[in-house]
Amino acid sequence: MDQLAETLTEPGKLVYLESPANPNLAILDIAAIARIAHQKGALVAVDNTFASPINQHPLELGADLVLHSATKYLGGHSDLTAGALMTSAELAAAVAPWRKNLGQLLSPETAALLSRSLRTLPVRIRQHNENAMAVAQAMEHHPKVRRVLYPGLDSFTDQELAARQMKGFGGMVTIEVDGGREKSTAVADNLRLFLLATSLGGVESLVSQPCATSHHGLTAEERLKRGITDGMLRLSIGLEDSKDLIEDLNQALAKAFA
Ligand SMILES: *Cc1c(COP(=O)(O)O)cnc(C)c1O
Repeated sequence: MDQLAETLTEPGKLVYLESPANPNLAILDIAAIARIAHQKGALVAVDNTFASPINQHPLELGADLVLHSATKYLGGHSDLTAGALMTSAELAAAVAPWRKNLGQLLSPETAALLSRSLRTLPVRIRQHNENAMAVAQAMEHHPKVRRVLYPGLDSFTDQELAARQMKGFGGMVTIEVDGGREKSTAVADNLRLFLLATSLGGVESLVSQPCATSHHGLTAEERLKRGITDGMLRLSIGLEDSKDLIEDLNQALAKAFA
């Protein structure tokens, strides 16, 4: 962020960002980034997948393009793969031929599933937000949990910025357990309600271990530089009863640290 203005030395560039970001849920100031980018003649694209269109409106904050993996919250039932791009008619017209020529049109069956899912998006997101907050608060008090990263917690570094730019804090919670990789593996393996999978945004809760999945390709040193530790577990909080989710995490932590 501090180096953005200096980095954007040539016109016609694109600033591409994700907020909240995977997996530490870091928040970027979309309005401030858009101001700097536009001064330098660059466009701003925001991957809004983690927030969903219910929790965050990047276009209102100054972004030019907003992307969603519709595979996640928009679909919401882990049964389709799709994407969505929101932008001006002018920019969309530039993208449309690529979409057609690359064969990225949805099948009617997938489009129908997605259309049905969108009808329940607001209530699903409301429950994801509520459940994630309950799980984050419960985990914050667990003696074997070193850190809980959730934009809605007062302890979260970017809480104020998140509260300013988001309407809800989302369904993604990242916890860091004591004991590094061995213990985070043990916790993940002992969970019964949370399924071990790398996707997110569905009705069912999922757990993934960034150091072994999404960020496996980086060295431990590179991961650490990005704030990703071996004790981290990324939770996609689903629509189950939050008490059951907390109980499941508690029993898995108890087994891992027995
Ligand atoms: C999953 C994901 C993608 C990729 O989307 P697919 O629908 O799986 O192709 C892109 N960005 C974010 C933030 C995601 O979570």
